[in-house]
Amino acid sequence: MLIAPLVEDDLDSITQALLVPSPVGGVYARTGLFERAIEGLSSFISRHREPETQVLRFPPVMSRVELERSGYLHSFPHLLGGVSCLKGDEAAIRAAVKQPDWVDELAPTELVLSPAACYPVYPMAAAAGPIPAKGLIFDVASDCFRHESTHEVGRFQTFQMREFVCLGTPEQVIDFRTRWIFLAQRMAKLLGLKHELAPASDPFFGRAGRLAAMSQLEQSLKFELLIPIRSEEEPTACMSFNCHRDHFSTVWHLVTANGDQAHTGCVAFGLDRLALAMFRTHGLDLTKWPAIVRENLSI
Ligand code: AMP
Ligand code: ZN
Repeated sequence: MLIAPLVEDDLDSITQALLVPSPVGGVYARTGLFERAIEGLSSFISRHREPETQVLRFPPVMSRVELERSGYLHSFPHLLGGVSCLKGDEAAIRAAVKQPDWVDELAPTELVLSPAACYPVYPMAAAAGPIPAKGLIFDVASDCFRHESTHEVGRFQTFQMREFVCLGTPEQVIDFRTRWIFLAQRMAKLLGLKHELAPASDPFFGRAGRLAAMSQLEQSLKFELLIPIRSEEEPTACMSFNCHRDHFSTVWHLVTANGDQAHTGCVAFGLDRLALAMFRTHGLDLTKWPAIVRENLSI
C-alpha cells in the first residue's frame, strides 16, 4: 500500500475538529470523530494480540507505594501526579473548603495517577508465583497522566496508553521485542502511516538522568516508532519498544520457572498520538480514507 504524504489541512483545523480544549493546557475533550479512530485503532491492535495473552484494563490511578517501589520517584519525579483529598469530619472539611487556599488542606492518599499502563502488572504477576516456562504476556491499558512542561499538539497531560508486556527469560523478552518492532512497522504500513524506527531514551530527571538516558541509548533498551503529526521533518513518538532487563524483577522478585531472575519488556501504543497521525495523514473525512485503511480499522 502507498504511504500517503500529510494532508493539506493545517494542524490547527485538524485539532479543532478532534479535540475541544479545557482551561488547562494539554487536557481536552475528545470528539466523536476522534473517538471513532481511537476505537478503530484499539480493535486493530487487539486483532494483533498474541495467543495466550492475559487482558487487564486498569483504572487511571494506581498504588502510590507500588509506584514508589518501582523507582519512579528516582527516575521521573517531575512527571508524577498524586491524588489528594480533604480529610477529617464534616466540620473539618467545611472549614477547609471555606479557606481561600483550601488546596493547602488537601492531604495525600494512597493513590497516584498512573504514568504508564504497565506499572501495576509486575507486582500482580509476582504475587502469582514463578513465571511459567513459556513466559507471560499481558495486554494492558489505562489513561495515563504526565506533568509535561509543554503542551504542543500531541503532548497531552493525560492520554490513553495500550501496552503488551512480556515477563520471562532474557531471550523471551528480546524475542518479544524483536517480534513487535517488526509487527508494529507492518501495522503502521497497513494504516498508511509514514514511519521510522529510532533508538530512544526516556526523559529521566536531572543531571543523573542524563547519564541514565545515555546508558539506555548505549544498551539499545528503547526504540520508538516515529510518525509525522506536527511535521514530516520532526515526527512524533507514537509507539515505544522497551527492554527493562531485570529492573522490575529485582524490585518485585520476579523469577522464572527454574528460579532464575526474570527479565521484562513492553511495547506501548500512544492511542491519542496514533489517532492524530491518522487524521493528519488521511484527512478529517473518514469516508475519504483509503479503503484498506478503513477496512483495517472497521470504520
Ligand atoms: P513512553 O512510556 O514514554 O515510551 O510512552 C509510550 C507512548 O505513549 C509513547 O510512544 C507515546 O505514543 C505516548 N505518550 C507518551 N507521552 C505522551 C504525552 N505526553 N501525550 C500523548 N502521548 C504520550
Ligand atoms: Zn510499559
